Amino acid sequence: MSDYGLIINGEKVPTEDGFPVINPATEEVVGQCPFATRDQLDRAVRAASEAFIDWSRVADAERAAACGRIADALTAHAEELASLLTREQGKPLNGLGSRFELGGAAAWAGHTGTLALPDVVIQDDETARVVQTRKPVGVVGSITPWNWPLLIAVWHIVPAIRTGNTVVIKPSPYTPLSTLRMVEIMNEVLPPGVLNCVTGEDELGQWMTEHPYIQKIIFTGSINTGKKVMGSSAKSLKRLTLELGGNDAGIILDDVDPAAVAPGIIAGAFLNNGQTCAALKRLYVHDSIYDDMCAKLVEAASNVKMGNGLEEDTMQGPIQNKMQYDKVVGLFEDAVAHGGRVLCGGRIPDGPGYFMPYTLVADVSDGMRIVDEEQFGPLLPIIRYTDLDDAIRRANGLETGLGGSVWSADVERGAEIAARLECGTAWVNSHGGIAPNVPFGGVKCSGIGVEFGEEGLKEYTTIQVLNVSKAAA
Ligand code: NDP
Repeated sequence: MSDYGLIINGEKVPTEDGFPVINPATEEVVGQCPFATRDQLDRAVRAASEAFIDWSRVADAERAAACGRIADALTAHAEELASLLTREQGKPLNGLGSRFELGGAAAWAGHTGTLALPDVVIQDDETARVVQTRKPVGVVGSITPWNWPLLIAVWHIVPAIRTGNTVVIKPSPYTPLSTLRMVEIMNEVLPPGVLNCVTGEDELGQWMTEHPYIQKIIFTGSINTGKKVMGSSAKSLKRLTLELGGNDAGIILDDVDPAAVAPGIIAGAFLNNGQTCAALKRLYVHDSIYDDMCAKLVEAASNVKMGNGLEEDTMQGPIQNKMQYDKVVGLFEDAVAHGGRVLCGGRIPDGPGYFMPYTLVADVSDGMRIVDEEQFGPLLPIIRYTDLDDAIRRANGLETGLGGSVWSADVERGAEIAARLECGTAWVNSHGGIAPNVPFGGVKCSGIGVEFGEEGLKEYTTIQVLNVSKAAA
């Protein structure tokens, strides 16, 4: 028996088996997570299918109001959820940590409630009335990662139910407990079956992507897993939104003041300890300002209090899990072995906890693992360039295309260059900012579809045309 339960049809369902969830700051067990069987997944999907019959037909205003109630519930339980999130995810309570994530989740839920997809009258004359409507797709399967577990869950859940779908969500086994509790709280303001949560390891995600009664999968995670999701979803031609990894480049032009831009670059690179899909992960700096830029970046990345996120003055937590920690350390060691110059950080403290300070590595180049592979941690390679066209070519040279940025004293010049980046969002003089009314998604292997705003809402619907002939029957 585990401490937490699955949430199926509005009820907390205990499971026979469970597995421990580890606090990455202490390596202690936070709690036992329930292990769902295939039969329990089927029950959750059945509950969602049955709830869909009524939920897809309730008045649009009621579904909008439900989003508002979710926002209020998140606000009311913010402190409890933030504390649990910090214990299982590792991020600090303060700064852009757990309290920020809960604030963002409530804001996103509230804003999504205000969005609408009204009918479009295409033709209305003496021969016919032709109206394009948006209908929910059915049961949505949501598969979430461990970096922003609650915010990403809200990004999946709220637009789905706003448009009349019902949901079965499966959080990452690294950070499942806060999602289980959040879904339990949301169920207090939703009809039973509209939102269900299953947890487990191994094959649960794959079962969802193959499930004949799930009509759409929204997935946020790695590119490799995204490809698997797409493959197994093909069997039943599911609708898909895939938000996958990035390896975002930032290009620093020769006209910037390094001291002025350094704090923004560090913020864009190390948001959530670098464990953010659209964090700045490769920094291309013009040769004429390279050394000065490196010095100012070191200043901006220094004196950040690293530790257990439950301590109020902590500003940087651990890397979320041992697998990711080993990966980031491996990329760092490979860079050093190939001539990378460590500007700061890199000194890995002894355990417990998966800690690594903000680490800047200079004199690295394309073709090295630290540049070509997504680090997803507090590690930033700084690459020298002389020719701008060459820097743009290198920035566009990978399979990823989530975000990118250009930094310049001349914003028009910056915008012209940013438009040449092959990515879903191109920022000028900032990196990584998102908003609930601005579409966000990747190109190339960074994903399919967008989230947020009306464009994001459309992804949870299919078009139905209502064609009413006015000729005599
Ligand atoms: P994954 O992409 O493997 O996992 C994300 C989610 O997908 C989890 O809930 C996982 O659950 C589930 N999953 C795994 N395999 C399948 C499958 N075949 N079918 C359906 N669902 C599946 O991310 P990892 O946690 O393994 O992290 C690996 C790398 O991914 C990181 O190093 C980072 O580079 C990147 N990443 C990117 C994120 C982003 O926001 N774009 C977020 C997290 C990671 P389970 O493990 O139980 O199968």
